[in-house]
Amino acid sequence: MGAGYHVSGFLSEKVGRLTMTKMQWGAYLSSLDADGKLRAMLASDFHRAHKPDVGHLDANVSMFIGKGNTSPLHPSGYWTGDDVYKQLDHAITMFEILHPGCKGLFLFDNSTGHAKMADDALLAQSMNAKPGGKLVSKQRETSWTDSSGVMHTQSFVFKSGDELLFEAKGVRATPLVNGEVEFATGADVEVQRPGSRTWVKASVVSRENEKYSVQICEAEPARDAGDRVLADVDVSSLQVPAETYKRGTVDVRLVGHSKGLKQILLERGLIDGTSRLKAKCGTADKKKRKEAKAKEGIGIGESVEVPKHAGVLNGEACCLEYLLSEQPDFKEQQNAIQELIISRGHYCIFLPKYHPELNFIERYWSRVKWHARQHSDGSKDGLKTAADAALSEEACDLALIRRYSRTAWRWVDAYSKGLDGVLAQWAVRKSKKHRCVTEAVDKEVNALAKERERASAARAAASSTEGPPLVLGVLADMTAAGALCDNDDGK
Ligand SMILES: [Zn+2]
Repeated sequence: MGAGYHVSGFLSEKVGRLTMTKMQWGAYLSSLDADGKLRAMLASDFHRAHKPDVGHLDANVSMFIGKGNTSPLHPSGYWTGDDVYKQLDHAITMFEILHPGCKGLFLFDNSTGHAKMADDALLAQSMNAKPGGKLVSKQRETSWTDSSGVMHTQSFVFKSGDELLFEAKGVRATPLVNGEVEFATGADVEVQRPGSRTWVKASVVSRENEKYSVQICEAEPARDAGDRVLADVDVSSLQVPAETYKRGTVDVRLVGHSKGLKQILLERGLIDGTSRLKAKCGTADKKKRKEAKAKEGIGIGESVEVPKHAGVLNGEACCLEYLLSEQPDFKEQQNAIQELIISRGHYCIFLPKYHPELNFIERYWSRVKWHARQHSDGSKDGLKTAADAALSEEACDLALIRRYSRTAWRWVDAYSKGLDGVLAQWAVRKSKKHRCVTEAVDKEVNALAKERERASAARAAASSTEGPPLVLGVLADMTAAGALCDNDDGK
């Protein structure tokens, strides 16, 4: 019991589930030059790894999830942001084969699984205030424009000859050799004894196979007689003593290390050396703001949501992290999915939270789940068989998929024209509970669309007489408030 089967896929209103024959794929490959071929093969590696035995190519990926279902493909046993990224890469290729020369519009809901950022994305929250630290920033080089319109490029890592723009206290610049942490023999270090979280002064005696042997300083209290020399110390239990680095040409020991929030903001002239801004808004700060909001009577009886940062107060940012996160290059940082789609020349939209009625795949998933439940015998194998059958043409054909798509577009249209607040709220409330909007709400929207059709037909008929009777005026007002368009092309 308790087996979870996860399906991730792409649905197109033109072709339904994104699939293609091996012949189509072969024809595509032979049309490519060597570079393109390599790229396409890499994308299809993902497919082959997941579906080695099917006779066609399918953008869908299915797997059993949970701790008991780990595999070399999915070491965590779960479907991750990395998997979404690889699947999308393959799906874009398939889209391009099916629709040569077309641009795709990819819709995603706002779930955390779709929010993965690239490893080198610009993220202020992943930065320390100070230079150094154990992890070196992977953030890509960026550019910013000063007040006179001059553009500057900026790296997040110190290069030889850079200027350190403030006196940096308490900095630990872990020694790096070819980008890897490596402590030299004889170096002064601090070490954590096994099972202890306190750091004590020591020096490196030797290093073998990534493990260190260290001598703890005489001045440190001994725990027992044999505890002066520690062997087999892992690099994670070692650090360099904190130091103060003076302003001016950067110390060679900081070269290759992260600059940190303060240096980055100083280089951009957004703060000066005297700035007393704290590094980050902490959880205590957030709690305080939450309490203040509750005191004002906001959010009584429900959870109060306050932003992570207080923001700008009296013309000053709440913290260094917030100040940097508000800069154009950081603000424009897109997630990995957006970056991939745009880099391949297509479009993408992230749908607003709690609005599954806008995403026609949600209706499809409802149908698939319903179908699988009807046909599952309760066993794990039965679940897979039933789920795979539920994904077939027989269970949900293209006509039905297109109908789902039309209804979703009606919702989009309804909102864009200012759908009546009561109905919209009802929809939101319902969809929060059920993930997918209920059929009843869909019916309501479809009925409104039909009503508008009738109203405009009636208006057309009335215009040939003396002018609209009173009741038609009311109908026209209603449709202005909740106007819907019934367009079978879904455009
Ligand atoms: Zn803040």
